Amino acid sequence: MKNIHHKGYETDIMKGGILMKYTAEEIRSALYNNELTAYYQPQYDTIKGQMKSAEALVRWIKPDGTVISPFFFILVAEESDLIMEIDWYVTELVCKTLVKQNMMPQFPISVNFSRRHIQEENFADKLSALVDKYELPHPLLEVEITESAMIGNEESLLDWIVSIRSAGFRVAIDDFGSGLSSLQFVKDIPADVLKIDRSLLSHNCEDEKERIVLESIFIFAHRLNIKTVAEGIETKEQLGFLRSCDCNRIQGYLYARPMPRRSISSFVLNIR
Ligand code: C2E
Ligand code: CA
Ligand code: CA
Repeated sequence: MKNIHHKGYETDIMKGGILMKYTAEEIRSALYNNELTAYYQPQYDTIKGQMKSAEALVRWIKPDGTVISPFFFILVAEESDLIMEIDWYVTELVCKTLVKQNMMPQFPISVNFSRRHIQEENFADKLSALVDKYELPHPLLEVEITESAMIGNEESLLDWIVSIRSAGFRVAIDDFGSGLSSLQFVKDIPADVLKIDRSLLSHNCEDEKERIVLESIFIFAHRLNIKTVAEGIETKEQLGFLRSCDCNRIQGYLYARPMPRRSISSFVLNIR
C-alpha cells in the first residue's frame, strides 16, 4: 500500500498491487449508467455549532456497492470535457436534493466546478436555467472554484465570477492557501466565501506561525466582507483556535464526514 498526498488528504491508491486509475471510457459509462452520485458534508456555524450548509462531493458507487472516491477519477475526467458533464450532473442532483428538503428549513449547498467551466459559454445562464427548472432560489446554490484556477486566467475568472454572482448565486474560492494563492488575488476577486485549505491547519493550530498566518487571513477576509469556511477540521484544538478567530463556518470529520443524501436528510432532522 502506498499513500499518495493529493490536495492535502491521503488515500491508498494501491489495491492488491494494482494502481486504481480509471479510463475516460469507464468513467463515462459510470456517468451514463447513473453510478455517480453526490455525497454531502455538512458545514457548521463555528460558534453555535449548528449545521448551516453543506458541500456536495461526487462519489462513484459500483454495482457491488463499492464507493469510489473522486481521487480515482476526477483527474482523468478533467483531461477532457467529461468533467463538465459530471459537474452538471452533480448540480442537477443537488437541485433535486434541495427540492426534497421541502418541509425542512432549506440550507445552501455548494457544488465543485472544474476550472474548465470558466471557458464555458453562458455558464451563468445555464446554471440559472437548471436551478429555475426546479424553482429554487438562486442563493441556495454556491459555486466552488479552486484558487489554482486563477493561474493564467485572472481576467476570465474575474468576469466568470461576476456573471455568476450577478445571477444571484454565491461563489466560494476553494482550497485557499493550498498553493500559490496570495491575498493580492483575493483582494481582486469578488467572492462571497473563502474556503481555507486544511494544509494551513496541519500543525493542529499549535504552532505560533501557523496561528499568525490564519489570524491574518481571517482579519483580511472579514474586512473585505468575505465569509470564511475552514475545511478538514479534525480536532478540538483546531476548533478551539478557529472559534477565537472569527471563522464563520467549519467543515470536517470532527463534526461529520460526507454522507449520502438520505443520511443527510435524517441528520438535519435529528439535530433540530
Ligand atoms: P475538496 O473540494 O477540497 O473537498 C474536500 C475534501 O476533503 C473531500 O474529499 C472531503 O471528503 C475531504 N474532507 C472533508 N473533511 C475532512 C477532514 O476532516 N479530514 C480529511 N482528511 N479530509 C476531509 P473528496 O470527497 O474525496 O473529494 C476530493 C476532491 O475531489 C474535492 O476536494 C474536489 O476537488 C474534487 N471533487 C469532489 N466532487 C467533485 C465534483 O462534483 N466536481 C469536481 N469538479 N470536483 C469534485
Ligand atoms: Ca470543494
Ligand atoms: Ca477544498
